[in-house]
Amino acid sequence: MKLKFYGTRGSIPVCDVGFQQFGGNTTCFQITFTDTNRIAIVDAGTGLRKLGKDLRAIGHVQDQIPIAFTHFHWDHIQGFPFFAPAYDTKQKITILTVGQNQTVENLREVFEIPLQSHYFPIQLGLMGAQFDFLKIEEASQHFTLTSSTPTKVTGQRHNHPGGAYSFRIERNGKVLVISTDVEHGEHIDMQLVELARGADLLVHDAQYTAEELPSHRGWGHSSYDQALQVAEMAGVKQLAITHHDPEHDDEFLLRMEQLCKERFAETVLAREGMEIAL
Ligand SMILES: [Zn+2]
Ligand SMILES: [Zn+2]
Repeated sequence: MKLKFYGTRGSIPVCDVGFQQFGGNTTCFQITFTDTNRIAIVDAGTGLRKLGKDLRAIGHVQDQIPIAFTHFHWDHIQGFPFFAPAYDTKQKITILTVGQNQTVENLREVFEIPLQSHYFPIQLGLMGAQFDFLKIEEASQHFTLTSSTPTKVTGQRHNHPGGAYSFRIERNGKVLVISTDVEHGEHIDMQLVELARGADLLVHDAQYTAEELPSHRGWGHSSYDQALQVAEMAGVKQLAITHHDPEHDDEFLLRMEQLCKERFAETVLAREGMEIAL
């Protein structure tokens, strides 16, 4: 499989000069199952707009597109109304939450309410695509549909205001773990370390430096040091750090990347448009 970062920014998009190298769009990941050429999307931050345009540009046809959500904070849903396939009456889109102990009651409402006419000109029911809203514990069949290759998708709740989920996706002997918007607190979340165990690629939130973290307790994010700790403890092969703070420009992030590499060589700070093959 292959992962492409369409949004690497946390909290709010930034378009300022000096932020272009790492990118200004908020969280959106595209996973491509290269043997079947099917895609699955994780989160619908503002990066989703470009993802939809790219699918159109290459003429990608997929009857049902799954979008799995880590959670529904603004920076993870704001691209949804700008996703071109959502306006295609022939397109099926499955909106998914994956994992146990989900607190969201009505998943459709989570999308319907921000699309009310007070906030947006086109309401959910008028967009065009056929939407399915599924709260499930196990998502494998929704990610890959008819493929004969076994795929396992596990969602695990982690600490974040309102709750959020990490995903572990296993296929063809490769393991991808995505954990964004995670606040470890005083101690590293050992359940997350277990979820990430032996991953070929761990994508982990690090919005803050260790110095910035204490003044942002309760905001729901990690430091670079914590992302590195999880990577080391879980024995992952590669670490990609994402959810960059909107105050951290390219120069700052390049410096952080250098420091991270000195401690864990196989670290990159995610850049918009970056692809990593597993
Ligand atoms: Zn976020
Ligand atoms: Zn969040």
